[in-house]
Amino acid sequence: MDDALTRVYGVVCHTAAKAYHTVQWGPPRVPELPDLTVVAEELGRRVAGRTVLEATAPTPILVRATPEELSSLAGATLGVATRRGKFLLLPFERDGAPMRILAANPMLAGRFWLTPHRERVRARTGLRLALDGDEDLRYVDREMLGKLYLVAPEGMDQIPGWPEMGPDADDPKLTLEAFRQRIRRHPGELKPLLRNPRFVAGIGNAYSDEILWEAQLAPFRKRSTLNDDDIARLYDAMRSVLADATKRLRVLVPPEIETQHREFLKVHLRGGERCPRCGRELRQIGGREATTFCRSCQPPF
Ligand SMILES: [Zn+2]
Repeated sequence: MDDALTRVYGVVCHTAAKAYHTVQWGPPRVPELPDLTVVAEELGRRVAGRTVLEATAPTPILVRATPEELSSLAGATLGVATRRGKFLLLPFERDGAPMRILAANPMLAGRFWLTPHRERVRARTGLRLALDGDEDLRYVDREMLGKLYLVAPEGMDQIPGWPEMGPDADDPKLTLEAFRQRIRRHPGELKPLLRNPRFVAGIGNAYSDEILWEAQLAPFRKRSTLNDDDIARLYDAMRSVLADATKRLRVLVPPEIETQHREFLKVHLRGGERCPRCGRELRQIGGREATTFCRSCQPPF
C-alpha cells in the first residue's frame, strides 16, 4: 500500500502543519464555501446600505476594471453581499437599482478587511472602498492570485468559469437525486471530482478531505466504483460537513472577516495524528496541496 501510494503520489508525508490551524494573515489557504458564506453574511450585516465615498485600486492588477469604472462607484450604495461557488459577490446600487457587481475570487490569499480609513494601506491591496462611517472595505492579497471582476448585473457570464459553474454544494435544489444525475457525468477520482466547480461549486482542498473522511471514501477512489449507498453517503457527508463548518465559523469569524479558522477540521493537514474515528495514524500526501485521509476508515476499494 505504501509503495503503491508513493508510486502514484510521490513522497508520502506525515508532517502536521499545526501552525496553520489558527491563522491571521497566516499561511494562505483557499477560502471555501463555509468561509465565504460567513464573510458574505458579516458584510451583509456591516456594510449593506452604506455609501461608497471613493473606490480605488492601490495595486491595480488585481481588479478587472478601468479607473473610470472604479470612480463611477462613488456615491453608490452597497447592497447585501452573497456567495456563489468560490466567489464573493458585492452589489453596488444607485437609486435602489443594482448598477455593478463586484465578483471576487480570492483564490489562495485574498482576504476582505474592514478597517478605519486612517489604517495604513498595506502592500498588495487590490481594492479600497472608502465607506461612510469612517471605514474602508479593502481587499488584500499577499499572493496576488485572486481576481476581482466589476461587471454589470447582466454581465456575470463574462467572468471566466461562471457560465459552466455547477450548483453550489449547499444549494437546496441539489437533492440527492440531482446529485446522482450529475455525478454520472463526471468520471475520475473523488477528490478532484469534489473540487471541480463544474460538478459542484464551493469545495476546495480542505473540505474535500473532510467530506471524504466523513463519507469513509478514499480520495483516490474512482467515481465508477461507487454503489448507490456510497453516493448517498458522499452526498450526506458533503451537506453535513459544510453545514457544520458554516455553523462553527459563524461563531469564530466575526467581526474579523480577514481571519481564517480551520482548527476544528478533523483530518485535513493532520497527517501523523490519530484518526478521530478509529485511532489509527492519518496519512498525508502531497505538499502545498496536501491530501489527508485514514487508510482504515477510507479503504481504497
Ligand atoms: Zn480511521
